[in-house]
Amino acid sequence: MQDNEPDNPLHSAERDVVALGIAAAAILLLVATGGAVMPSAVRSLLGTGSAPDKLLVSALLLNIALIIFGWRRYRELTHEIAERRRAEDHARLLAATDPLTHCLNRRSMMSATEELRARAAQRGEAIAYCMIDLDNFKQINDMYGHSCGDAVLVTLSGRIRELLPREARLARLGGDEFAFVMPYPVGHTDRLDDLVVRLFASIAAPLEVREVTVELTVSIGLSTDHDADGSPGPVVDAETLMHRADMALYHAKKQGRNRHFWFDPSMESELRFRNQLETGIRRGVSQQEFVPYYEQQVDIQTGELVGFEMLARWQSEQLGLVSPEIFIPIAEEMGLITQLSEQLMDRAFADAREWADSLTLSINISPVQLRDPWFAQRLLKRMVASNFPPQRLEIEITESCLHENIGLVRAMITSLRNQGVQVSLDDFGTGYSSLEQLRNLPFDRIKIDRSFVSELREPSGQSRLVDAIVAMGRGLDLPLTAEGVEDEEILTALRSMGKLKAQGYVYGKPESGEEVRRRLAASGKLAGASNLPGSPVAAPAPVPEPGLPRAANS
Ligand code: C2E
Ligand code: CA
Ligand code: CA
Repeated sequence: MQDNEPDNPLHSAERDVVALGIAAAAILLLVATGGAVMPSAVRSLLGTGSAPDKLLVSALLLNIALIIFGWRRYRELTHEIAERRRAEDHARLLAATDPLTHCLNRRSMMSATEELRARAAQRGEAIAYCMIDLDNFKQINDMYGHSCGDAVLVTLSGRIRELLPREARLARLGGDEFAFVMPYPVGHTDRLDDLVVRLFASIAAPLEVREVTVELTVSIGLSTDHDADGSPGPVVDAETLMHRADMALYHAKKQGRNRHFWFDPSMESELRFRNQLETGIRRGVSQQEFVPYYEQQVDIQTGELVGFEMLARWQSEQLGLVSPEIFIPIAEEMGLITQLSEQLMDRAFADAREWADSLTLSINISPVQLRDPWFAQRLLKRMVASNFPPQRLEIEITESCLHENIGLVRAMITSLRNQGVQVSLDDFGTGYSSLEQLRNLPFDRIKIDRSFVSELREPSGQSRLVDAIVAMGRGLDLPLTAEGVEDEEILTALRSMGKLKAQGYVYGKPESGEEVRRRLAASGKLAGASNLPGSPVAAPAPVPEPGLPRAANS
């Protein structure tokens, strides 16, 4: 309840009419009775007159008692009121602030923003709303515990507060999310950009908490109640400002974190599309709309088909056939990638069981899947359930997996290899893996990224990078696959490099399971089919002994 509301009991207590009336009446009576009693009392004391009227003396004494009572009651009342006012102020403060950082909280930030906006509008100023989100707070909490996390939040809020102008209001919206709102002269968004640059610098300074040093980065989203050209936009209320800053923040996260963006209307449609995709993907998983496509892998020297790489496609009702480059990253973020991948694997195992035993199946594994310590066990269990021989399976992991828990990755690779599964390093050359990592991790194969392979189309038919990777593969005794082979020129250039596998559009686009079946049926490469003349099928791959290094250059 507001202090100045007419029915606030504190105010009526302050104007306690009864106490006031009693005191006033007592004073009037004192004057009246005192006037009559005092002179005769004085005379009687001097021995020059008779004693005053007893009744009047009693009235006088009663009057004095009443005045003392009224005064004391008044004193008590004002004390009580002051106490209650203090308690109310404290309760209001608690309800409006975050107890950890003493910033405003989400609820009070809304009204603080509205107030500031009205004040700024009166003065002809614009306001900016800025949302700040820590990029790595979860890791800090997980690694060093929640009390360390709390200390980080307190320091962070201090660093932000230090840089803000006096009029700005800072809030902790929850978790590791902060926001501030501040007025600025219309047309001078550069003031905010400068401030944000200083914020990034201040926040990036290493932070010592309980004997550990943590380094923080943040992502920032900004919105304003004025258009980019400085003209006041259509009335933008606090809620809209918050929502827009939130979208800008989301955009900053998407763009790779540790950066800031101002809200732009295109972000709204982007987000709407993204939400549609998420809903679609969730439904797609439950309705099994994700299907495996297959890309041929060929031995470059014999020209013989040796296997297929499975590539996911989403057969969406609304969107048609969707590329994995769109839905895989979203499924990873949504935590659906394992489920999606396992659905695809089951289908791929079923498809590949119909192919000749000599044909291998390659499956892409997301770094997110590899974070699960039970990944290898889950995969083996699925293979057993589908009755698919591990010797025919190859998994492809990208270099980015190697930046994660390398010990865990090594253990997984080792355990899969012990069961006969082959492991290749995909997109090689794009992810900064070191020679050291290549030597220490037991890969079976390296796949040269198609961005390098396409360089072979140059008139010289040469690429220093491809040459270097091929030489390195030979040096490490690791077989190689060139991916993204688009035409005969590239193929010719690759042939001069010795034993390699190749895949790419030169052999055709990825095909559905049914198309692959037809292709294999035509060349007599379905399981159990007798070989047609002129379509040689390689001998079944030898089953490797568990734990033994595989022969090079398969
Ligand atoms: P990737 O593993 O590098 O797969 C090869 C990609 O290159 C495929 O794109 C393929 O269609 C394309 N490609 C093949 N030959 C050529 C060529 O000659 N020229 C060009 N320009 N491109 C060629 P796609 O199918 O769109 O897959 C994109 C990426 O999505 C894959 O890259 C892979 O990283 C990922 N991906 C696909 N399926 C899965 C999956 O089931 N799980 C996971 N985690 N990732 C997948
Ligand atoms: Ca791949
Ligand atoms: Ca690749």
